[in-house]
This record gives sequence, structure tokens and C-alpha cells, in this order.
Amino acid sequence: MQRRQQLKKARRIVVKIGTSLLTSGREGVKQTFLTKVAAEVATLRQAGREVIIVTSGAIGLGVAALGAKEKPKTIPGKQAMAAVGQPRLMQAYAQAFAKHRLTTGQILLTADDIQDRERYAHARNALLELLRLGVVPVFNENDTVGVQEIKIGENDTLSAHVTHLAEADLLIILTDVAGLYTANPVQNPDAELLEHVDVIDRAVESMACGAGSELGTGGMATKIKAAKMVTGSGEEMVIADGRLPKVLGRILAGEPLGTVFYPHGDKLASRKHWIAFGLRCRGSVQLDAGAALALKNRGKSLLPSGIRTVTGRFKQGDCVGLLDESGREFARGLSNYSSDDVVKLCGVKTADIERVLGYKNSDEIIHRDDLVLLA
Ligand code: GLU
Repeated sequence: MQRRQQLKKARRIVVKIGTSLLTSGREGVKQTFLTKVAAEVATLRQAGREVIIVTSGAIGLGVAALGAKEKPKTIPGKQAMAAVGQPRLMQAYAQAFAKHRLTTGQILLTADDIQDRERYAHARNALLELLRLGVVPVFNENDTVGVQEIKIGENDTLSAHVTHLAEADLLIILTDVAGLYTANPVQNPDAELLEHVDVIDRAVESMACGAGSELGTGGMATKIKAAKMVTGSGEEMVIADGRLPKVLGRILAGEPLGTVFYPHGDKLASRKHWIAFGLRCRGSVQLDAGAALALKNRGKSLLPSGIRTVTGRFKQGDCVGLLDESGREFARGLSNYSSDDVVKLCGVKTADIERVLGYKNSDEIIHRDDLVLLA
């Protein structure tokens, strides 16, 4: 139970809200539920935490708005329902959050936005800017253009991707069951609610197969998949019943609600490992002695003024090698600018980036968080 107290430290939190909590048949959005969520988010924000929402419900709301009997089975049918439902969904969020003086902003993603490094960087920049402006970002999959090949398919996995995108500390999946049970609680009266999971092994996966899998699009199996993604890179995840009063605040106060999945990867190490070893370097930049030292010894980011030459062709978001004066690769990182732009920026002062390029993504060519020193 002591470990639960770790949750108190979470500063940036992704909250996933499933369709069953949000919509009910013909009535459309359960506005009272959304108002409750908005109140809880407002309280968390007052306590200095950032909240990012991943919501389902677009297709369900489209079905309700058009008075259709059931969810369409065809892809164009689902696309059309999402086109009708998504703006209604956002309108409901905007209304509920406005009551608490919060502004919401929509980000719709497809699988391409996660896999393509440039698009990933763009989505991340948009997200960070929304947070900077104090807006509550609300994600969903872009179901209207989502055909099979580019679909993530369900929002449990999407919420794990968003947790990575945001580098959030915690993912809370709100659903209409209390958490993960040892067996399906509907069929098995002896089923016990797990307070926490340390390791997601076969036994845990088999519990998920039975429990609650008829609820929502994904059921428990996709929640476990999301938990693997999140805990593997050092963050925590909680599955809890979204209908409980003040559920978010209580989880963050360390109350034993729902099931918490503890991380088994080291946050920093896994991301740095990914940058250092998981990505192919598309090019390199050679630095002057001062810049190389500032990076090696003083934990600085890479600014344009320290760059001498650029080799290779890379896009924004690609991995590049950093060479010292002697040509030795001593670090790797993700570039905020393409090679064409970095060529123009060699030796340029940060204050002049916008004048030289006509735009500015960021002050740094490579931010410290996206940079790893090699041994
Ligand atoms: N993106 C879908 C929608 O908004 C929901 C997917 C899910 O339920 O996981 O309708």
C-alpha cells in the first residue's frame, strides 16, 4: 500500500474515458458525468497538475444523433458516424469544462501520427503548446479518415501512446468496472479485485481475457496491452471505476481504488535507450569545442551557434549523431529541425533562428531531454 503513495507525485496525467461512461443509447452524452469529470479536472489543475484527456464516444454519439439502431459494421458507416458524433462530443466537453472556466482543445490522431517521426513531433508540439496555454487537450482517434490500415482501433492503446507522447507520469483508465479481477466478476462470485499488479505475466493476461471483455470496444485485454506499454517505459497506470465520486483526486491521494500497475522500466533509461539504440541515425552534426563541452559536462541543450557542419539528410524528429571536434560521435539526439534548416543555422544565434528560417520550432536544435551521451 505504501507504493500507492507514489501516485501523489504524478504531475502530468492522462485520463482515458470510455464510451460506456459517456454515452447512453438515445440520450447521447451523459452530461452529468462529464460535468463531474470537469469538476475533478479543475480541482487537479488547481493543485498544479496537468490533465490530458483521451475520450471515446464519437461513433456512439453519431449513432445516437442519427437515431440508428446499432453501431454500423462497415468502415464507411463508422467513419460517417464519427463525423457526426465527434463535434457533438467536443461540444459536450466544451460545455462541461466551461462551467469550471476550463477551455478544451481537440487533437485527433491516426496510427500514422504515432509512427511517422515528423508527424509525431508535430503532434507533440501542438500538445505542449496547448498545455502551456492552460487548455485541457482532448484526444480521440480520427475515426472519420481511419481506414483499417491506419487505425489504432481502440482508445486504450491510443491512451498509452498519448502517455508516451506527453511524457506523462501516469495514465488513469476510467471505465465501468472497479479494476482488474482475478476472474470475470459477472460469472465468478469468487473473483477478487486486484489492488495492484507488479508484473504483467501470462497469469495476468489470462485474467484479462475473461474479465469484462464485453464492455466497450477494447475490454480488459486492450487495457492490459496499454498497461504493458506504459509500465515498460517507467510510468504507472490505474484502471478504476469512473463513476466513483472524486475518483481522480482520490487515486492521486493514494487511496486504494481500482488496480494500479507499477512500472518496471526506468523512465529516463528507456527513453534514452530508445534514442541511443532504437533509432537509425540519419545524419550528424559536428560541434565546436565549446558546444561539445557544454553538452558533455554541463547538461546543456544543443543550440545552433555551436554547430559547424552538417552531414546527411534528416527530417525534423530524426535521430542524428553529435560529433566533437575530432569527429568522434559522443552523443545522439532527436533534431527539432531538418538537415536543410540546420545547414542554414550553423553558427547562428538562437535569437536569429526565425529571421533565417522564416519560422521557429524551438530555441534548441536538440533539446536536452531528447539527447543522450554515449560512453
Ligand atoms: N474512437 C472511438 C470513438 O470515439 C472509440 C474507440 C474505443 O471505444 O476504444 O467512437
